[in-house]
Amino acid sequence: MAKLGDLLSIDYENLEYKGLSNAKKQLGVSYLGDINTSSKLVKGLAKNYSTYGVYLLSSDSSGIQVCSDDKQCKEHCLSTSGMAKLELLGGLTKIQNSRMKKTLTYGYNKEFFTRMLVDEIRVKQLEAEVNLSEFCVRVNCSSDIALTSLKIGEKNVLEILPLIKWYDYTKNLAYVKYAKKYPQLHLTFSYSGSNWLRCLEALKMDVNIAVVFDCGSGHKMPKKFCGIDVIDATENDLRFLDPKGVICGLCYKTTAKDIKNHKETIPNTRFIVKKDDPRCEW
Ligand code: SF4
Repeated sequence: MAKLGDLLSIDYENLEYKGLSNAKKQLGVSYLGDINTSSKLVKGLAKNYSTYGVYLLSSDSSGIQVCSDDKQCKEHCLSTSGMAKLELLGGLTKIQNSRMKKTLTYGYNKEFFTRMLVDEIRVKQLEAEVNLSEFCVRVNCSSDIALTSLKIGEKNVLEILPLIKWYDYTKNLAYVKYAKKYPQLHLTFSYSGSNWLRCLEALKMDVNIAVVFDCGSGHKMPKKFCGIDVIDATENDLRFLDPKGVICGLCYKTTAKDIKNHKETIPNTRFIVKKDDPRCEW
């Protein structure tokens, strides 16, 4: 397990970018992002998409705030499910330490982070091409940062790599409005439990809404939520293939924090829509 001193011994603000390999060496990480690294992203392969995804330390848990409107979800963030959950339960923090370094790099040296990101995406895009696979990028697998803020000089990543298919989920409505000028970026607006009016505004802009349901062990989600058709968005993460004007239904996955007395419990938060919620039609 890396000690806090190891993380802080890196002079993040003064990191100098000298190529991708050197950057990884300076940070002591194997990669910034990678292809098909989670059980969700890998499902894109069934539709011949390789997905490059980046995992940061969500919310403000690194000291750097990387999420917007996270009051309802930060305690139940899916970034501590999956492999990260197994690792936390086992008392190891290798994944968390790596995410911490990447997040601190983002926080203290955005241009270094962006240069790494751009170079790595170029490499992974070539790999996908060799494998005759379509390629897409989700930077915010466990964060909600505006891609327009990731810049090298005056240009943001969407302008530097305009032919990449980018997609993300966000709760930042101002970003949704601003990002409309980049057709290469597909955004899905996330329901937080208390932002329904903003969800409706996003829908009016042809942006779908992601809602997390308590699907139970039977993986059941309602047919409609607030009168709007629900599609099963757990089949893959390729949100840009979804029809417009729908709710993208996600199922809550328990995180390390939900294990109480060796039992998994669904937390009581408005962010997760319960089975008996009157807004659901089954
Ligand atoms: S906004 Fe997303 S990534 Fe951030 S804390 Fe909430 S669920 Fe996690």
